Amino acid sequence: TVLIHRYVKKSKRWGKAIAILKEFEEKCATPTLKLKQVADAMTVEMHAGLASDGGSKLKMLISFVDNLPTGNEEGLFYALDLGGTNFRVLRVQLGGKDGVVGQEFTEVSIPPNLMVGTSHELFDYIAAELSKFVNEESEDFKVPPGRKRELGFTFSFPVKQTSISSGDLINWTKGFKIDDAVGQDVVAELRKAIERQGLDMNITALVNDTVGTLAGGRHTNKDVIAAVILGTGTNAAYVESAQAIPKWHGDLPKSGEMVINMEWGNFRSSHLPLTEYDYSLDAESLNPGEQTFEKIISGMYLGEIVRRVLYKMAEEAWFFGETVPSKLKVPFILRTPDMSAMHHDSSADLNVVKTKLKEILEISDTSLEVRKVVVALCNIVATRGARLSAAGIVGILKKLGKDTITNGEGQKNVIAMDGGLYEHYTEYRKCLENTLKELLGEGVSDSVIVEHSNDGSGTGAALLAASHSFYLDG
Ligand code: BGC
Ligand code: MG
Repeated sequence: TVLIHRYVKKSKRWGKAIAILKEFEEKCATPTLKLKQVADAMTVEMHAGLASDGGSKLKMLISFVDNLPTGNEEGLFYALDLGGTNFRVLRVQLGGKDGVVGQEFTEVSIPPNLMVGTSHELFDYIAAELSKFVNEESEDFKVPPGRKRELGFTFSFPVKQTSISSGDLINWTKGFKIDDAVGQDVVAELRKAIERQGLDMNITALVNDTVGTLAGGRHTNKDVIAAVILGTGTNAAYVESAQAIPKWHGDLPKSGEMVINMEWGNFRSSHLPLTEYDYSLDAESLNPGEQTFEKIISGMYLGEIVRRVLYKMAEEAWFFGETVPSKLKVPFILRTPDMSAMHHDSSADLNVVKTKLKEILEISDTSLEVRKVVVALCNIVATRGARLSAAGIVGILKKLGKDTITNGEGQKNVIAMDGGLYEHYTEYRKCLENTLKELLGEGVSDSVIVEHSNDGSGTGAALLAASHSFYLDG
């Protein structure tokens, strides 16, 4: 009877765990209708953000890029790409019509303490790495004598630009929080740090990673109309008609166009499917109340959402035994790449899941049933994120009037896409692509192409530095 008693208790707990899972699944649901509402809301907010500063949670920032690369850019340019957990320094040789003819780069991870320290420390660290890299310039990969080195600075946070090469940081996102940098011109900060290194270099362009990706994408494919980043954070930029930007009071650019950095990570709508886990994640984050869209679709947060649900199952349904595994209490211990690995586990006994649970959370002896639940949970979280990002893209297409069949045959609308989440999380990517088809319908969906722009943000910044070069003729 003791055994039977135990069994009943155990199956009761199992039932409770499944109930938690089911409830979460329902709250995360993204039926087609809901996604269409999200896409519509995105379009509405885009209009509001373009009308006035502060008109919407969507900042719709003016990039000062009114001319995308033409393909005539030539010479050696540097780029510095700061935004996630790593930063990159690149040296790009542009060969005019031949495009990028040579490239070297180095990637450095940012020490976590520098993400929450002072502006000075962060920029000194970056400038030191830049300086090292510049000093390794080889003879045949060099800026011609008499000419200063020029740098395109990709800075992947919301910035209120004051020109193509200056702009004030509005706020930090992702894992960064350096209070004394907020409101400062990030180019001035970088320039001072570069000078402290004794380096002589011009910062010719300041761009968001989405804008860099758009520039890089357009350089190789003229049908590129927008860029989306799905990585640690998320965002989109697109080419807008200058006349459709009421808040722009400057001269109308010759091209008639202006690239807009949407900062869609901060999008919020009553149509977004949010759960108790999202609310608590937000409340305990570095930026409560901000980046709502980002917190349910991007790489920094997906694994953490999974951890939070598992924690609740452990606590309330003894999902991993009578005590809550202590590692499960640690915020951000379950990273999205690990979640992805578990999600893609195709072995019959879910060996990857087993190993990950053991290595990361120190949970051993899991049953196959438990592991299946973990996979189901990963699927729920990834599906919600991927479907919502597809809805965001449809929102942009709607704003541009490209969500229905209007223009002639063969017209392509290409979205340049980059970021680790898109690149490495196959199920996420597949789900996003299928959802785009579902929302756009046959016909239209054939004209919309998502193209992986591998590290376009760095080369894009170099291209923009080139097209805004101090040495530009004419
Ligand atoms: C930032 C954006 C950036 C995106 C992708 C977001 O957190 O606010 O500026 O483009 O991450 O890196
Ligand atoms: Mg890449």
